[in-house]
Amino acid sequence: RKAGLTKFRDQVTQTADGHSVALLANVGCISEINHLADVGAEGVGLFRTEFMFMHSAELPDEQTQYQRYCDAVQLLDGKPLTIRTMDLGADKEVPALTMVHEENPALGIRGVRYTLTHTLLFNAQLKAILRAANHGPIRLMFPMVNQVEELEAVFELIEECKQQLVEDEKGFGELSLGIVVETPAAVFNLPSMVPMLDFISIGTNDLTQYTMAADRANPQLVEQFPVLSPVIVKLIAQCIEAAKTANVTVSMCGELASNPAATALLIGLGIDELSVSLSALLEVKQELSHWRYPQCVNIAQQALVTSRIEELNVLLTHCRLS
Ligand code: PEP
Ligand code: MG
Repeated sequence: RKAGLTKFRDQVTQTADGHSVALLANVGCISEINHLADVGAEGVGLFRTEFMFMHSAELPDEQTQYQRYCDAVQLLDGKPLTIRTMDLGADKEVPALTMVHEENPALGIRGVRYTLTHTLLFNAQLKAILRAANHGPIRLMFPMVNQVEELEAVFELIEECKQQLVEDEKGFGELSLGIVVETPAAVFNLPSMVPMLDFISIGTNDLTQYTMAADRANPQLVEQFPVLSPVIVKLIAQCIEAAKTANVTVSMCGELASNPAATALLIGLGIDELSVSLSALLEVKQELSHWRYPQCVNIAQQALVTSRIEELNVLLTHCRLS
């Protein structure tokens, strides 16, 4: 199935019977956006901004960030740019910041827990993004949101930033707002959060880590950290159900989205959008073209009643081969 991938670059992303899905790219830096056209990506579904902070000796200030986000918007030329605010903490350390040592950093001050307690840093990023949104479509999402209270706190800061921009007579644009759903708590709390959101993006890397209580970076836990498992399928279905009641777009930016073995299942479950690594994009697009939508729905229904990891793998492998 790997042969002739390049022909998919200019084709519409859809199943054999015309069910279309948005296929976007995950990027870690602006220069990667130059390669979107090589694979026909429809935009950026995840820009991990923490790398901008980790890879420089000094912290990029509001103006520096503004210029970089504007560069990204310009390169995308009207295609969506999904920015994730800095996901610091856990394994991600920043030379310019003194971060407190934590015994258990994956369960510590990371994602919005960090930015909500370092508001000078957060406000600079939010203002830079709000200003860049004046030049093209930006979707903004927040990592590690568990609770509606956290979302309210973030939204309050956004309002304050807008107020300051008005006072400083700096232009800004409207943002689409979302969260990365990456903890079981976030999944269960979605009904209270989706009314405030335009989209959600499922982060299966951390969602798997926190659901299975297995360190995603520990090579000894590969069995306890299954790429695909019945419990994750059920959580994804629960996210989609909660999102659809509020007409909220469901994207997936975790590694599972880049795995062609899961493509039919994800589409069948009702995912609207996949954001994948550049290297996997054409393969996922090709995979999608092999399926008819009712087959995908059928696989999803069967997957939802599996209980064993092996059973799920056999189901997916069997369906792909037949
Ligand atoms: C995820 O957790 O699935 C995700 C996309 O974020 P990261 O891999 O950067 O933690
Ligand atoms: Mg994550």
